[in-house]
Amino acid sequence: MDKKFDKFINNFRVLIKDLGLKNSTQREIILKALFHSKAHLSAEELSTLIKKEYDSSIGIATVYRVLSFLEDHKVVSSINIGNANSKAYEINPSDHHDHIVCTKCKKVLEFFNPDLEKLQVEIANKNGFKLIDHDMILYGICAGCKK
Ligand SMILES: [Zn+2]
Ligand SMILES: [Zn+2]
Repeated sequence: MDKKFDKFINNFRVLIKDLGLKNSTQREIILKALFHSKAHLSAEELSTLIKKEYDSSIGIATVYRVLSFLEDHKVVSSINIGNANSKAYEINPSDHHDHIVCTKCKKVLEFFNPDLEKLQVEIANKNGFKLIDHDMILYGICAGCKK
C-alpha cells in the first residue's frame, strides 16, 4: 500500500465528512490518478489515464465537475496552459512552486526562485498590500519544440 496516498485520502475523507457529503468512488479514482501521475494533467488527459491505468470509465463532464469541486476546496490546483479552456491540474502542492508552460506542446515545468518570491512580497508591500498568494506562469517554447 502507498502510505503517502493513504494519508492524503484519509484527510480528504475528513473534508468530505465535514462538508456533509458522501464518499464517492469516482472522486477518489480521479484523486488517485492525479496523485500518482506526478504531472500536470488536463481533464482529457486525466480521463484517458483513468481508462488506461485504472480500468474505469469516468465521463469527461464528470471529470470536469469533480476537478472544479476539488479546486474550490483547494485539494487540487490548476494553471492555464494556453487557450481559455485548457487547464492543467495537479494535487495542491505542499511546497510552493511556479510554472513555465510550452505553448506548443503544453509541457509544464516547475521552478522556484527565492529572489522572485522576495521581490513579489516587496512589490505588494510597496503598494500597501500584505501578500497572500500569487500565480506566476511563464509561457514560452520549450527546448524540444524550438528545434
Ligand atoms: Zn514544447
Ligand atoms: Zn506544479
